[in-house]
Amino acid sequence: MNSRKLKVSVTNLMRKVFSRERFSAVLDVGVGEHGLYERGKDGDLKLDVWLESSPDGIRVKGKVGGVVSMECTRCLQDYGQELDIDVDEFYRRPGLSIVNPEGRTASHEIEVPEEDEYIVDEGIIDLNLLLNDYVMLGLPIKRLCDELCKGLCEVCGANLNEAECGCVIEDIDPRLAPLRELLDRKEG
Ligand SMILES: [Zn+2]
Ligand SMILES: [Zn+2]
Repeated sequence: MNSRKLKVSVTNLMRKVFSRERFSAVLDVGVGEHGLYERGKDGDLKLDVWLESSPDGIRVKGKVGGVVSMECTRCLQDYGQELDIDVDEFYRRPGLSIVNPEGRTASHEIEVPEEDEYIVDEGIIDLNLLLNDYVMLGLPIKRLCDELCKGLCEVCGANLNEAECGCVIEDIDPRLAPLRELLDRKEG
């Protein structure tokens, strides 16, 4: 996901250490195979956070709440998943001092940010990363439009939440299948 709304300039905020600013954005977001994507309609997911400057970077604290669109694993229809997630994260300002494990500061070392680290990049924090990480982690394990979703018919593919298709599905316990085969052979 790469929404321009979520690239926030913090240049002013960083000039004044320990100052804070509210940031909020409303987005229309779906959950895809590789994380979040922007759908571009009027959305219902809200990121509402305080940005707080410290000498080392920007603290982002607040909430992600509302609805993301995702696919039900049973019936494969899109549905709105409600979320309410607390956010507390730190965007580090790179190129400053590094404190080594002994607690001493080595300010002249060249620093490469770690791959999954949030950083302040040329005065900008990219909240796309944060939103993606928090939402993906905050999603329920069961992705169902409804606990009682009936899913799709194995025979004709009809959405059984909408209509009874009338197909007959033989329900054979896989553990009994060999026995069943044996019986069939005897009968035949
Ligand atoms: Zn469903
Ligand atoms: Zn059917």
